[in-house]
Order: sequence, then C-alpha cells, then structure tokens
Amino acid sequence: MFLTISTTGSPERPATDLGYLLHKHPGKAQSFSTSHGTAHVFYPEATADRCTAALLLEVDPVALVRRGQGKGRGGAPDAALAQYVNDRPYAASSLLAVALSGVFRSALAGQCTARPELPEQARPLRVEIPVLPARGGTELVHRLFGPLGWDLVRAEPLALDERFPEWGDSRYVRLVLEGEMKLADALRQLYVLLPVLDDSKHYWISPDEVDKLLRAGEGWLAAHPENGLISSRYLARHKGLTRDALDRLELVRLAESDGSEVEELDNAVDEDRDTEERPVPLAVLRREAILAALRGAGARRVLDLGCGQGQLVQALLKEPAYTEIVGVDVSMRALHLAAKRLRLERMGERQSSRVRLVQGSLAYTDKRLAGYDAAVLSEVIEHLDLPRLPALEYAVFGSARPRTVLVTTPNVEYNVRWETLPAGHVRHGDHRFEWTREEFRAWAHDVAARHGYGVEFVPVGDDDPEVGPPTQMGVFTRADTDTDTDTAATDTTATRADTPKEGEAA
Ligand code: SAH
Repeated sequence: MFLTISTTGSPERPATDLGYLLHKHPGKAQSFSTSHGTAHVFYPEATADRCTAALLLEVDPVALVRRGQGKGRGGAPDAALAQYVNDRPYAASSLLAVALSGVFRSALAGQCTARPELPEQARPLRVEIPVLPARGGTELVHRLFGPLGWDLVRAEPLALDERFPEWGDSRYVRLVLEGEMKLADALRQLYVLLPVLDDSKHYWISPDEVDKLLRAGEGWLAAHPENGLISSRYLARHKGLTRDALDRLELVRLAESDGSEVEELDNAVDEDRDTEERPVPLAVLRREAILAALRGAGARRVLDLGCGQGQLVQALLKEPAYTEIVGVDVSMRALHLAAKRLRLERMGERQSSRVRLVQGSLAYTDKRLAGYDAAVLSEVIEHLDLPRLPALEYAVFGSARPRTVLVTTPNVEYNVRWETLPAGHVRHGDHRFEWTREEFRAWAHDVAARHGYGVEFVPVGDDDPEVGPPTQMGVFTRADTDTDTDTAATDTTATRADTPKEGEAA
C-alpha cells in the first residue's frame, strides 16, 4: 500500500517544509509498527524546489486473515481462499487510512509546534495513490474528490491484466490529486475517503466512529453533496450511526450557514459568534432570560416574532407549560431551517399540535397574531430601519396586544468590551442601529405609554458596572391586565418581582 505527497517550493518557502508539517525528517527513513503491519515513511526527493514524502504500509496478510479481514460482509468467512487472493497487501485501502492517522497524527490535527504558522498555509500539493480500490469506479472518485477544491482530480482505471485488455478494468484506479490545499485538509479527506472508496471497513464499527468521522470531516464534510454516501459507507452502512452522523452534520451545516448565508437569509443570528470565547454563549443566556420571564408571566400561548432558525421555539417546545407556540418570520429560508431544526415533519401529532411556523412581516398588522399571552422579539427590532419601527410597534403593541411582550436588543455601550469588534462597528452586518441603554429605555417608555403597558428592564449577560450588559431586555406588561378575567393576572405580578432577579443572576 503506497501513497505519496509532493509539494513544490522556492528558496523562501522551501518544499522541504513538508518535513515539518509531517513531523518526519526528510533526511531519514523511518518505520513504525501498526496493528496491521509496518509503516515506512521516506522521502524519494527532498530539495527546496520539490519534496515528496512516501508512506508505504507493509501489511502482514496472515495477521490480517487471523484478525478476520478475510471475512466477507456479514462476517461469513470467504473460505480459505481469502488468504491467497486478499488484495490488502498492495491496495491502498482503509488500512492505509488507519496508518495515515497513526503516523501523521499531528499533521492531521494541523499541529506543528516547531513552525506553528505552517499548517495554516495552503501550498501546492500533489497526492498520488498508484493502486486504490474504488467500488463505484472513477466516476465515484470524481464525485467524492470533485467538490473538495482540488484543481485536478485524475482517476485512471487499472486493467485487470494489462496483457489482456479485453478482460476489462479491475476495481482499482490510480488516483492523482493536485491543488493548493492545507496539508491537514488533504490528509483528513484521505483519511475518510480511502475507506469509503474501499467500502470494506476492516474493523468493527463502534459509536465513537461517528465522532472520528465528524472530526476528520471538519470543514468539508457537512457541505459535501455526497455526505450521505460518505457517512453510510464510512460507518459500514450501520443505519443508526449513519442517521446520527447525518443529523449532526446537518447541525454543523446550519451553524456554518449562519456565517456564509447571512445576507441571503436576511437574517441575523447574533448567536455565539461574537462571544465564542465566553463560557456560556450570550445567545444561551438570552434564551434563559426569556424563558425565565415567560415563566414569571405565566404565559401558555407564546409568539416568537422574528423567530429566525427556531432556537427559542425549540426550547419552548421542551417545556410542557407552553401549549401553543407560534414562530413568525419574514424570511422563508429562516422558517425552512427552523422546520428542519424542529424536525417538524417527523414530529408526533401531540407535539406538532403545539407548534406552528408562519410567514409574516412585523411591519404589518396581522389578525393571526391576536389573542396570545406573550410575544417575544428577540434581537429583532435592530433589523428594521428606524422609520419602520413605528409600524412594528403598532402591529405588536397596538394590534396583537399580548399581555406580555419581551424585547431584547444589543446594548451598544457594551461593544467596547468585545475584543474582536473594531471601534464604531455594530455587532452584525444587518443591524440597522444599536442603542445605548438610555436610548432603548426612552423608546420603551414611549411605546409603553402609547399603548397602555408598563415596562421593566432586565440585563442579560455580564452587567458591566461601566457600560452595562451586552444584551438589554424590556419586559412589557399590559396595564389593563388586572381586569383580565383569566387566571394569569396574579402571575403577572410575579413577573415584576421576579424578572429583575433572574436578570441579575444572568
Ligand atoms: N429571534 C431570533 C432571530 C433574530 S435575527 C434570535 O433571537 O436568535 C432577526 C430575525 O428577524 C431574522 O430571522 C429576520 O428574518 C427577522 N425579521 C427581520 N425583519 C422582520 C420583519 N419585518 N418581519 C418579520 N421578521 C423579520
């Protein structure tokens, strides 16, 4: 089993940096024993211009057969023949992938202590595997490597026997990949895709295989059009594990799409991005503060206005107290992602009767929104142009008129505390404005006075003595609540007393 990785270079960026990246000295040949044989690493060429590292795995076929590799699918032994016709000794199969991960562990992880900047740099790479078993042939090789950013993917079918071309092709190909790529990315692709092409995983599949797949797939697998086939084959067609992997990849994809598809979404998931380093993401604290306030208000039927991708709706569904949850958003795409997150289609009847996602604009009054206990506007108002804000105000406080309205919005004063935020910048490209505490309070008091509500303010996140909390929340309670005939009137009093405490705790 044989694989070479080559790179080119210049006197300033010598090709022999490959030795640093692989943690293997270009001047030495080294051998490592692996569970299936011996792995050798050596450099057929090593100059500043060109450097090639070769990984050769010498498999011990007898040990393999003893370990059960000679068994066919389903565990039935392929009779004694297996020992003689086994292709493992020379074909670059899943065994090579295992050797690769053992011998180049740090390179796979993108670590290089001696030259920490190197793994981050893409460089011209050429990978060649002379004999690669490919169930699915050259066509599948292209489908798998094609979307991964290589300039060249060449898969040449190998004849069964060159002397007898009429016998046709074998199930092996010669693979060449060329392109500008980070070495770790290339290695991680190979680590996953070699066994996928081989399609005869040689060890038992345990649940931690899903973790391995996701780790090695980081940055490329979630968005790969063939991630279903890749996961299924990698996990030896184990249905439960494959389902699990695909679900988790979908979440990864959604998280990635928060960044890249933000404009298309007309959406802003402030979310964890601006707070990555913090122990509890601000988005989580915000959700907790909202849930506490809703609980305090004794709400049962709740509107999530500008629900985005449905994180809050999902949290509300988990609490049986909420009998009716309606997510509203103007963006169909956000609603589509929310439906996926909630698995609306696969939801049982009892759950699905509690939740609805509807498209609508908060800039217009909407009869469907009348008669609810509470409405949440979490990180929504700052997405409207200021002149549109009175329309939203009327639609929510004038027309829908729920007993409780929760409004959260960034506190712009806190922006100086974000280390990664350049001075004078808003937290998200789609924020039309961000308010100081005073500006938010002034707006909130006006709104409350105009529509017959009282309002209290709750800090969310670390309440900085100088600049206040990162998120500010207004808890609006309709003033005529006490005349409501329903039982929740007493609960509303509890809101006033309870919520500030919750806020302080957050
Ligand atoms: N509430 C979510 C999402 C906030 S992002 C959270 O806290 O994470 C703002 C959301 O408001 C986006 O999904 C956007 O599509 C939606 N939105 C913006 N303008 C809107 C409008 N006029 N009507 C309805 N939704 C709107």
